[in-house]
Amino acid sequence: MTDDTFYGSDFGALEAFDPELSGILLSELERIRGGLQLIASENICSPEVLTALGSTLSNKYAEGYPGRRYYGGCAEVDKAEELAIERCKSLFGADHANVQPHSGASANQAVYGAFLQPGEKLLAMSLPHGGHLTHGTKVSFSGKWFDAVHYGVHPETEDVDYDEMERLAKEHRPKVICSGGSAIPRLLDFDRIRAICDEVGAIMWVDAAHFIGLVAGQAIPSPVPQADVVTFTTHKVLRGPRSGALVCKEEHAKALDKAVFPMLQGGPQMNTIAAKAVNFKEAATPAYQDYAKNVIANAKVLATELAERGIRPTTGGTDTHLALLDLQGVGVTGKEAEARSDAAGITLNKNAIPNDPQKPSIASGIRVGTPSVTTQGMGADEMVTIAELIHTAVTKGDGDPDHEVSREVRGRVTELVTTHPAYPR
Ligand SMILES: *Cc1c(COP(=O)(O)O)cnc(C)c1O
Repeated sequence: MTDDTFYGSDFGALEAFDPELSGILLSELERIRGGLQLIASENICSPEVLTALGSTLSNKYAEGYPGRRYYGGCAEVDKAEELAIERCKSLFGADHANVQPHSGASANQAVYGAFLQPGEKLLAMSLPHGGHLTHGTKVSFSGKWFDAVHYGVHPETEDVDYDEMERLAKEHRPKVICSGGSAIPRLLDFDRIRAICDEVGAIMWVDAAHFIGLVAGQAIPSPVPQADVVTFTTHKVLRGPRSGALVCKEEHAKALDKAVFPMLQGGPQMNTIAAKAVNFKEAATPAYQDYAKNVIANAKVLATELAERGIRPTTGGTDTHLALLDLQGVGVTGKEAEARSDAAGITLNKNAIPNDPQKPSIASGIRVGTPSVTTQGMGADEMVTIAELIHTAVTKGDGDPDHEVSREVRGRVTELVTTHPAYPR
């Protein structure tokens, strides 16, 4: 610490000026500390990342790229962005990185901007089978402005159907083939996807939003060697600030940079870029590599233990940080399970399962992930307990926080989060 006040972390001043808002910040912290966070797309970032986010770099307009800005006074933010770029390239062994996308969805837009004209064809995973809104669904710009064709999961294996991907690729000759999604528990076969892309001359786009942290931590294979472009979020397993980024082959660097700015975004959020630099440094440490391996080990235990209690993981298990669970065996809907868990201090989300008979707002499944609980230092023993608590809440609770089952489970949750706190005091 220098002898200057670091203005960004002056919580006392905020508290004095705005007790109403600072009260919300404190009660959100208590919410994170008080329950089990099993949402597969969330994590608990470090105080160092939060400090960079809350810094004076938030003030700076820096449209353009380091050394080529539209505004003066960018010398310091240039250094922050260069650090983030260099660390990102080195973390993933990538030719080129763009750290300006404001989010995962913004990074994905850049892929459309760089490679597709309106009306042109994209092949991607269907949303109900585990894809993402930005992969050509009708409610998103990607489905309104582009011609999206979708592959799904195989009816028996419930894993990505590569034969269908290949068949549709040959039939439709898409310019871009997207792989990755929000509810895929298994590893992707990047060699197979590359071969399909080469067969039809398509750009290979991997949306690694969910699993990029596992790649950074060297716990699963990387798509970077095969893919033309890899987009990702920085706030999921990776555990950085809420944001996005992309890495690509050198030949696509110009097109993607131009698509991020000036085609899609205005000024980059320099405080968030600084926080991404901190996050990329964290993700290159042995401690983070251990973390990534533990995230997967925990997810495997959680999936196995739930399976033993009649809550079936689709595909039979997981290789990653998440499990997609079919609740039909216990006769509960995803919506009910989400509400019952919530009442018991367990935050998770309902999720459609492949060929779900229910509509998406009800769903037959839930998705659980281990990034947050692993950040809190929980391991296999705690996963066994969590599986038992989920099963109890989901099958015996009724969604009322005052119900005896909710209270009992909440008590056990409190024990877990007391011994493994988020943001220890
Ligand atoms: C989370 C996610 C995104 C979107 O990220 P945002 O930061 O919410 O915009 C995109 N693609 C996939 C596969 C995701 O899981």
